[in-house]
Amino acid sequence: MSPELVVDLAAIRHNVRVLKELTGTAMMTVVKADGYGHGLAEAARAAREGGADWIGVATIAEAVALRESGDTGRALCWLTTPGDDWAAAISRDVDVTVYSEAALIEVLATGLDARVQIKVDTGLHRGGAPRAQWEGLFARAAAEGVRVTGLWTHFSSSDEPDDPANDDQERAFDEALALARRHGLDPEVTHLANSAAAILRPSARRDLVRCGIASYGLDPAPGHTPDLGLRPAMTARAHLALVKAVDAGDAVSYGRTWTASRPTTLGLVPAGYGDGLPRVGGNHAEVWVAGRRRPVRGRICMDQLVVDLDGDDPGAGAEVVVFGPGDHGEPTAQDWAEACGTISYEIVTRIGGRFTRTYVDTDRLGP
Ligand SMILES: *Cc1c(COP(=O)(O)O)cnc(C)c1O
Repeated sequence: MSPELVVDLAAIRHNVRVLKELTGTAMMTVVKADGYGHGLAEAARAAREGGADWIGVATIAEAVALRESGDTGRALCWLTTPGDDWAAAISRDVDVTVYSEAALIEVLATGLDARVQIKVDTGLHRGGAPRAQWEGLFARAAAEGVRVTGLWTHFSSSDEPDDPANDDQERAFDEALALARRHGLDPEVTHLANSAAAILRPSARRDLVRCGIASYGLDPAPGHTPDLGLRPAMTARAHLALVKAVDAGDAVSYGRTWTASRPTTLGLVPAGYGDGLPRVGGNHAEVWVAGRRRPVRGRICMDQLVVDLDGDDPGAGAEVVVFGPGDHGEPTAQDWAEACGTISYEIVTRIGGRFTRTYVDTDRLGP
C-alpha cells in the first residue's frame, strides 16, 4: 500500500469561514503551489464553499488550472516573467498583477480589457514596484486608462507582530495609496495581509486579506497566534513495511548515526526524502504508530525511514501517521517543521512523491 495524504475538505471550509468571520473583510484564499500541497482545484472549491470571495495564485499557469477546474469567481495572480501568456489569464477573467511599467506594457499589448492590480514594494524587497517607480507606474496606468482594480503589498515580518517593519510597511503602503489616488487611480480593493497579518494585525485587514497557510489549518506565527480552532486539513499516513528486533549496540541507517542503548524493536516506514520528508528530520522527527509517538532513528533515506517501537510489535502493515491534525496526539506538520528547522508551509508543500492524495469530507460523513 502506498503512503497516502488524506485531505479533509471540511477542515479547509471551516478554516476559511473562521478566518472570514475573524477579519470581517473579503477573503482571498491562496492556493498557489498546488494548494500548499493539498490540491489546487480541491482547495479552491472547498474555500469557495467556506466563503472565499477571491482565490489567489502565483503564476498564470496556476490561474489557468484554477479556471480549468471550473472556478468562475474573482481570482488574482501575481508572479510573471517577461513573455508570459498574459492573455491566458486575462481572457479567463483573472485579475493580473504588475510590478513594473514593462509588465504593464505587456498587458496593454494583449489588447484585452484587463483588470490590473499593482503591487508595490514597501520593504520586503522581493516582488512589487520599488518606491522610486511608483509615480511612473501610476502615471502610466492612469494615462493608458488601465482598469486598476487593486493596489497591494506584502509584509516581510507579519509572523513577528512586534517587528517595527510591519508599521513601516503599512505606512509606506498608505503613501503609495495616496499617490495612486493623486494620479486618479481608484482601486476597488487594497490589501496587504497574509495569514499572520490577517489574524494578528487588524489595521492591515483593509478591503481584503490573502490567507494561505491558515486556510489549511496551520499556524502562520507559532508562539503568537491565538487559538482560533483552525483544523489542519492534511494527514500523511503510511503502513509499516517491516518490524524487527535489534540488540543494544546495533546502529541504524546510513552513517550509523544512532545506536540502540538497549534491545528494542524497529519499524520500517516506506517514505523518505524522495517523498518530501526532509532528510534533516532524521533523529529529530516523530511519527505515530500503535497509539504512541515514535522517534525516527538514524538518517531518513530516499524511500524509507526507521522508527523506534520501544519493544512493541504492532506487526508489518500497522498504520503510521507521519503527521496529522494532532487530535489524538499524533505529530503535526508544525512538529515536523520544528524537528527539521523549517516552517509548516514547507512540510505540507513539499510532501508528495509516492504519497497518493485522497479527499474526505468529515462534514458529509456519518448518518
Ligand atoms: C503566499 C502568499 C500569501 C499567503 O501567505 P500565508 O502566509 O500562507 O497566508 C499572501 N500573499 C502573497 C503575495 C503570497 O505570495
